[in-house]
Amino acid sequence: MSYTKFSLAEKTALITGASSGIGRGLALGLAEAGANIIIAARRMEKLQSLLEELAEYSIKAIAVSMDVSDKNSVISAFDKAELELALPDIVVNNAGIAAPKHFLEIDEATRDHVMDTNFNGVWNVAQTAAQRLVAANKPGSIINIASVLAIGAQRGQSIYSASKAAVAHLTRNLALDLMQHNIRVNAIAPGWFKTEMNEAFFETEQGKAYIKTMPARRLGNIEELVGPVVMLASDVSSFINGAVLPVDGAIHVGN
Ligand code: NDP
Repeated sequence: MSYTKFSLAEKTALITGASSGIGRGLALGLAEAGANIIIAARRMEKLQSLLEELAEYSIKAIAVSMDVSDKNSVISAFDKAELELALPDIVVNNAGIAAPKHFLEIDEATRDHVMDTNFNGVWNVAQTAAQRLVAANKPGSIINIASVLAIGAQRGQSIYSASKAAVAHLTRNLALDLMQHNIRVNAIAPGWFKTEMNEAFFETEQGKAYIKTMPARRLGNIEELVGPVVMLASDVSSFINGAVLPVDGAIHVGN
């Protein structure tokens, strides 16, 4: 069966944090769905090797250096993307960091670093994209990668969880502010996927025991995030706006 409204041909997707893990997988998945691709992160050497993989698809792809926590860096990256490819009409705000630590031990620098990356980063990129789309009178779809910890809390995850809850609520507010400009804003709340962020933990006995407590008794595969993101990026989801979609094997439901 083919359902052409899922196609992202003629669209251009920017993915932040594309140098590893989920962002890398989403860049490949969005390319497979037909979108031209702008990959963004700080580690350019990793982006260069991803560009070689993206060359397998019949799309255009470029890499831009971007620190999402620095508005000037975001603006420069958008300038380069527009010059070399196009203004993105799909934006995946995926860059993020974790700081698992007990609340009593988190210093202010760590707190600010997590908020600057996970929350201000989404703000900087979403605002830059939306301002340019509105000026160009173009529609768009912004997809924020939140977390299952945006929905529920977990011991030792106070600042990460709070930053992701802020992203989820920002998503709802941006949906209302940007709807009149034909820009939809949704979020995905992933459960647990093995990446640079957490692979050391999931190799430990404690990590393996934690997986056994999950309803699905397994981690997700990054490919399982691609379909939901393609759906939110594409025209099939024209009436989905302000949603925070869990992709977590039912962790948010309980166990
Ligand atoms: P990774 O550590 O593999 O990837 C994180 C990415 O974010 C890297 O590409 C890194 O690129 C980028 N990044 C970090 N800081 C910045 C910055 N200041 N500016 C630009 N890019 C930055 O982790 P994941 O793939 O797991 O995480 C991706 C997203 O998914 C995060 O938002 C995370 O919170 C979320 N998530 C992950 C889950 C999981 O189980 N893995 C669960 C729920 C949510 P570089 O260092 O090159 O700049």
